[in-house]
Amino acid sequence: VICSQGFAEVLGIEGVSIRTWLGIDVGGSKLALALADAEGRLLARRRRPTEPSRDAAADWARIAADARALVVEAGASLADVEAVGVSVPGPLDLERGLLLEPPNLPGWSRVPVRALLEGALERPVRVENDANAAALAEWRHGAGRGASHLVYLTMSTGVGAGLVLDGRLYRGRAGAAGEVGHARVEWDGEPCACGRRGCLEAYCGGAAWTRRLRAVTPGAGRVAALAGGRERALPEHVVAAAGEGDAFARAELDRYNHYLARGLVNLVFTLAPEVVVLGTIPSHAGEALCLGPVRERVRAELWPLLARGLSIRPAALGAELGYYAGVSVARESAGASGS
Ligand SMILES: [Zn+2]
Repeated sequence: VICSQGFAEVLGIEGVSIRTWLGIDVGGSKLALALADAEGRLLARRRRPTEPSRDAAADWARIAADARALVVEAGASLADVEAVGVSVPGPLDLERGLLLEPPNLPGWSRVPVRALLEGALERPVRVENDANAAALAEWRHGAGRGASHLVYLTMSTGVGAGLVLDGRLYRGRAGAAGEVGHARVEWDGEPCACGRRGCLEAYCGGAAWTRRLRAVTPGAGRVAALAGGRERALPEHVVAAAGEGDAFARAELDRYNHYLARGLVNLVFTLAPEVVVLGTIPSHAGEALCLGPVRERVRAELWPLLARGLSIRPAALGAELGYYAGVSVARESAGASGS
């Protein structure tokens, strides 16, 4: 599906080539492609299932073909594309633009994404992990616009953060900064997928919470009814049931908010951000069930100096995130950070 917003006017000026950015966002289930103008406004976009086939070279040739088709359909030319930005699930070898072992993309192990796309599109390609790409997108186009210091937290399957500090993406050594999902929020706490105990992800990650829900949800309660059985319970069913006032769901969300707030307090003491953007579960749960209570708990723990300038907000881009994530990574290649 091509979204025609704007590109007819912008690109219709005959004989004028304009600088564009091409973004590719690869999710576990969906792939989003977007072409944007110099300021990052979307000119054309399309989405399709990711469908990794275990033949990574063929899959990426198809992705490159889709990208080329999008550029043509927008009335632009690949020569006008300043850079291509790719957002992919980690872990990554950032230096070599290699996808390592993304757990949700079987068969895409050690895929040289940057080399494959640079070969196919003959444009510079920058690859970034999805948490960093989402942080850039929310910073440039979403809830963090205008901030110099932003933390974006995603809690979909695992918990990850993207950090924009002093107005630029902060990656740390080997791109490993922002692994706040494995910051400890409980000594000797719940076991985590990483092999340690008490990690934030073991409490607030979607996968860990889902596992817990399937063990502790009352079989006759509202969450089980909404899910069609406790063995199918998901965080979204807890959010819905809590909205209806269900006591079990309220207690589960309270536990979630408690640990999320602990994680955020450590983060704020370390980084002193202006804006913390919460994606996935908190933005879905909303003000009354999650954001308000979390804000209150965090503020109660912080020094006034740190609490005063801090805003904890839901992510703003929603379903549009993928388009802006890829484009924002492409735009980052124009910045001082280079590499
Ligand atoms: Zn962990």
